[in-house]
Amino acid sequence: STSVEFRNVSRRYGANVHALRSVSLTIAPGEFTTLLGPSGSGKSTMLKLLAGFDKPTSGDILIGGTSAIAQPPHRRGIGMVFQNYALFPHMSVAENVAFPLRVREMADDEVRRRVADVLAVTRLENLAARYPRELSGGQQQRVALARAIVFDPQVLLMDEPLGALDRSLREQLKLEIKRIQQQFKMTVLFVTHDQDEALVLSDRVVVMRDGGIEQISPPHELYQRP
Ligand code: ADP
Ligand code: ADP
Repeated sequence: STSVEFRNVSRRYGANVHALRSVSLTIAPGEFTTLLGPSGSGKSTMLKLLAGFDKPTSGDILIGGTSAIAQPPHRRGIGMVFQNYALFPHMSVAENVAFPLRVREMADDEVRRRVADVLAVTRLENLAARYPRELSGGQQQRVALARAIVFDPQVLLMDEPLGALDRSLREQLKLEIKRIQQQFKMTVLFVTHDQDEALVLSDRVVVMRDGGIEQISPPHELYQRP
């Protein structure tokens, strides 16, 4: 795994929207960091900039100690999971999971081996030939997670990955995410506005407000909701 650093990162949209105001944050290799904060506080912008879907107005972003600003998204070694799964509907589970490897033109037997490994880790072996529409929300999100980790990313970004699930699925998948992160030793940046998720999953919680960092603390030092 690898370190991630935001160094005085600002992102302005037009003249007046300050999505991020000179944010500095260092994440150690293998650390699980959660961004917590109200809607509009800048959490998704942090992920977008780190993934390379957008560029900072000023400041630098380092992955493994090297500036990533000039690197396109597919060169950054980052896997992503979104709230709405974003699976390809016309592809089976196995094909969805194999997709990032096909794009990288990996040899067929290597693809087969890796897909089998990851389907086992995410407990999807029996669903390999199904299509997304035939799966529950929790199963679809496990497929999205499998697809995000199949190429062994150093960094995993998750934007409210449990947000669309009901309570019991959320509880279950929360534990799976933690187990998989520890097994793969990925550096994780996880976005949520759910304090309980932050408490259970994180090594460190970063509370964001109005484009800046309000507080950084271990989860047990976050004040409890009244
Ligand atoms: P969060 O993820 O915490 O809800 P965002 O990072 O999505 O917050 O947004 C931070 C601020 O930046 C918000 O005020 C949002 O409206 C604004 N913003 C985000 N993306 C854009 C964009 N593409 N164009 C204009 N404003 C944007
Ligand atoms: P196809 O009919 O094209 O084989 P599948 O959905 O069965 O469609 O598989 C897509 C790809 O994923 C295949 O090329 C295969 O290499 C791989 N694959 C399929 N099933 C499994 C599985 N259970 N374990 C590992 N790899 C699989």
